Amino acid sequence: MTATTKVPVCAACDRPQTEVPLISLAYLNTTLWICPQHLPVLIHNPQMLTGRIPGAENMKAADHQD
Ligand SMILES: [Zn+2]
Repeated sequence: MTATTKVPVCAACDRPQTEVPLISLAYLNTTLWICPQHLPVLIHNPQMLTGRIPGAENMKAADHQD
C-alpha cells in the first residue's frame, strides 16, 4: 500500500498511532510526530535522525548530564 494519504508516523521508526502513542511537534511549519521511545533520541541524539527529520544534523543535543 502506498502512502497517498499522510498518516502520522513516528519520525524515527515509522510506527503509526495505531501501534504507539505519537507526540506531535510543530516544526518548520509542519507537524512532526515522534513516539515516546524516540523522544529521548530527539532530545539527546538528534543527529541520529538525520535523513528522517530535515535539519536534524544541525540540531544541538541537550547538553545536560544527569
Ligand atoms: Zn519511534
